[in-house]
Amino acid sequence: MRAVTAQFLFEANTFSPLEVGMDMFRDGGTWLEGAAAVRRASEAAETQTGGSLRAFEAAGWSCDPVFLAVCGSPSGRLSRACFAEVREAFRRCLGPALPADAVVLHLHGAASAVGEDDVEGALLSLVRDELGHRGRLVLSLDLHANLTRRMSRLADAITAYRTMPHVDLADSGARAARLAMARGPLERSVAKLKAIVPPTDTTHWDGRFAHMLGLARAAEGRDGVVDVAILPVQPWLDVDEMGSAVVVTGTGGRLDGVARALAEEWWSQRRLWGADIRSWDEIVSRLLTKRERPWVLVDAGDATSGGSEGTSAEALARLLPHADSLPGPVLLCVVDPATVAAARAGARTFTIGVQRVPLEAEVMHVGDGSFHASGRLYPGRPFSMRGAAVLAHGDLRVVASCSPTMVIDDAFYACVGLDARNALSVQSKSIMSWRAAFAAEAGDGLYFDGPGQTPIDVRRARFSKAGRGCFPLTDEPSEPIEAWRYPA
Ligand SMILES: [Zn+2]
Repeated sequence: MRAVTAQFLFEANTFSPLEVGMDMFRDGGTWLEGAAAVRRASEAAETQTGGSLRAFEAAGWSCDPVFLAVCGSPSGRLSRACFAEVREAFRRCLGPALPADAVVLHLHGAASAVGEDDVEGALLSLVRDELGHRGRLVLSLDLHANLTRRMSRLADAITAYRTMPHVDLADSGARAARLAMARGPLERSVAKLKAIVPPTDTTHWDGRFAHMLGLARAAEGRDGVVDVAILPVQPWLDVDEMGSAVVVTGTGGRLDGVARALAEEWWSQRRLWGADIRSWDEIVSRLLTKRERPWVLVDAGDATSGGSEGTSAEALARLLPHADSLPGPVLLCVVDPATVAAARAGARTFTIGVQRVPLEAEVMHVGDGSFHASGRLYPGRPFSMRGAAVLAHGDLRVVASCSPTMVIDDAFYACVGLDARNALSVQSKSIMSWRAAFAAEAGDGLYFDGPGQTPIDVRRARFSKAGRGCFPLTDEPSEPIEAWRYPA
């Protein structure tokens, strides 16, 4: 028996004005064609593809991992040209590898392009309708997928990450391979939930979302249930069919009841969902205590890991008056190519970020800002700021970069000569991933809000499509849980 895999990961934030081109994959991320190159990459860093490959081969199947692309950072929509290039790569790589007994597609689930809200549905359609794949088709997704009817109809089985921050990439890949090898026909029952869950309420370690994941695991292995995916959708997505979802893959009439019961339990939590945003007075008073582990300053409004541009210098503006009175270094970061260029040219005065914060500073470092993630998040995977400079002012160190990255961890700061472990505080432009990136505890995080495209209160974003009907944009949606069933 033989399987083929392809992996394409990109998360859109449709409120970002940026369009994503091929450079965000080829220079800032990963773009590999052909089984030999993909195999090498899967040995060097943990990937979904690697997890699938090992599971297939352990079971005596052969597997051709023909394509692997990962965008350097979530951002706005894919450009038309970039999306055309992705489709062409699927044809070029998957076409000659078919027919196969099974195809596993590792896709994000919240990719959108200019002119196409549902990129993953379009890629599934390409594999089924254009390339004519008739064997089993397994869809493995990110936790933040926006599941559509087309995706649910065209895939035979659907699974997704079970962790947030996402530290189960290879496990998800192995699970997808097991679904591909499972005997007998598979059905999908989906409970689509008209709700946007704040990311602060979606960690697998503790709290309300951990409870939901526990219920999902308990439902598996009985009543015909093989796999349950719980999908709190990427919140900043103004697209058709927007919403969270519970997806149950298995066989038999009891799947629908399992999906609905889980969705109802999740829905019942909605009045408790929230975020722990701090005032700057409170943040400054916390920072006066130096501890063994650094405080993590979490920029909830401008999370590059959620597709925001990363150009807000809110923390710098707020901490500048305290730059000489803190008990240790505070490491900040901002996407600001003009500042990198000025630092290269030998400037001593700068205006930083969208706030245009005036700053007199010494340039400590200028470089390309390339690193391999070293925390528990995407360990070993290469990232690049595509140009970086470090500015020093009092206890503040500002890393200005030319491009956003989706991981900000020890290695992000180390590659520009800064020691995050011994800092008083480090900034993260990620709402939850910092816990894995810095091996931090929940109490280490100090959340603040500011400009950017990831407002933690989504009512601040201007939704025009289906998201408008989701809680909390609508306080009481008329039909909060929609049931889908495939095959019908
Ligand atoms: Zn995600």
